[in-house]
Amino acid sequence: MKKQTRLVIGLAIAIISLCISILRITDVIPASPKKPKYVFYFIGDGMSFNHILGTEHYNTEKAGASKTLRLNFTQFNTRNFVTNYSASNLVTDSAAAGTALASGKKTGNAHIGVDMEGNELHTLADVASEQGYKVGLVTNVGINHATPSCFYGHTSDRFGFPKLVDDYIASDVAFIAGSTIMDMKSGPQDPKYKPITTAELAERIRNAGIELTLDIEQAAKCSGKRVALVANDKENKHVPYVIDRKGDEQHTLLNHSKAAIEYLTREAEDGFFLMIEGGKLDYAAHEQDAVATFCEVNEFAECVQLALEFAKQHPKETLIVVTSDHETGGMSLGWDHYEIRMNLLMAQRASAIQMTKTIQQMRAEGKRNWNDYKQALSDGFGLWSLVPVSAEDEAVLRHDFYDIFLKYGPMVDGLYNKSEFLVYDAIRILNKAASIDWTSLYHTGMYTPLFVKGFGEEKFLECRDQTDIPHTIASLMGGKL
Ligand SMILES: [Zn+2]
Repeated sequence: MKKQTRLVIGLAIAIISLCISILRITDVIPASPKKPKYVFYFIGDGMSFNHILGTEHYNTEKAGASKTLRLNFTQFNTRNFVTNYSASNLVTDSAAAGTALASGKKTGNAHIGVDMEGNELHTLADVASEQGYKVGLVTNVGINHATPSCFYGHTSDRFGFPKLVDDYIASDVAFIAGSTIMDMKSGPQDPKYKPITTAELAERIRNAGIELTLDIEQAAKCSGKRVALVANDKENKHVPYVIDRKGDEQHTLLNHSKAAIEYLTREAEDGFFLMIEGGKLDYAAHEQDAVATFCEVNEFAECVQLALEFAKQHPKETLIVVTSDHETGGMSLGWDHYEIRMNLLMAQRASAIQMTKTIQQMRAEGKRNWNDYKQALSDGFGLWSLVPVSAEDEAVLRHDFYDIFLKYGPMVDGLYNKSEFLVYDAIRILNKAASIDWTSLYHTGMYTPLFVKGFGEEKFLECRDQTDIPHTIASLMGGKL
């Protein structure tokens, strides 16, 4: 063989070897993922700008910090805000807003997963399943309450709880967790459905072969089966507010979220889509209870922290979206002379609802001395002990106190719970002393915030309405709503 030919052959072999090595290297180093493998979708129910900022000021005061302590998600680089009016009302409810966030379509208030004509809508949970993701839904209210059910359910009556249980059973949702299963006695009744208890609905779920359990560890470790984790499968009873916890509660939004992540990480080889709702946050704001609301926002942020820790283990393939469905309560920070006095909220130890229970208990025990009630309000809310109460305000409270015995009945209706007038006025006096005020017992039409971190986060800067959020998530997951 000529020297020249040998050189050409040698060169060819070298080039082929180099190509093989490059191919091997690219085989070892994975290409950048084309879509997020893990999607976290956080919905703070009723949480808008002031609930978040108020929580940061409250935490700062509590810690005695000189600089404002920021919540984890407010530090995300991608931040936006969106409109949230429904197709029927300028002020949305959780059903229409949940549908918007789950399906990317505006619908009327009280509608879940259907448009105004009743047509069933495609949801993010459907898109996730089609794209090979396993789906998880976690809330701290009922698993068939408005927000979670918007991901699997279809009804124009948000209180059609039995139908929503049937829709859940028929869905692909692999893991669901919450306080309870809403029964058919709670909320306005739909004549289409016969009354049904939580225990009966639980039985229906078990009969469908789903592992319905109250055991958090069992839920997290369950393999090869769909899981429903609830704190109560006998009666329609919610977990207590964070502020009312005694310290030994296992059924919390945080623990349920941990269980969901453990289950999904193991069971979902091709990735997961996990929606986590801070549902009781909305309840606390309906009751115009600032500290109870801030404590719920804090637990919600702890759940976001779980996602952030998870993302550290799975960089480049995790997407974290944090938003809200609407604002609740019309909360304002600083009605009084450019001030917010968070220090006056430090003595609050009980939610307004817990205080209502205390007052009702005292009445049942036959206590009729104003000083006993005054002491209860001081112990639970810090009135008189930390918060000055004017003679005028004390007169209002004493009037409410006499009404407790004279009238028995009229209560302030905060949608989900009813407060004694004595408690409603006491919490109003407390909040106003701190320069926090509320304008609504329901929702307002204020913009809702959006915070995003991870895979494709820049795409969310284009969102203008809450319906844009699920379209963006669906598109990143490789599907379409
Ligand atoms: Zn809501």
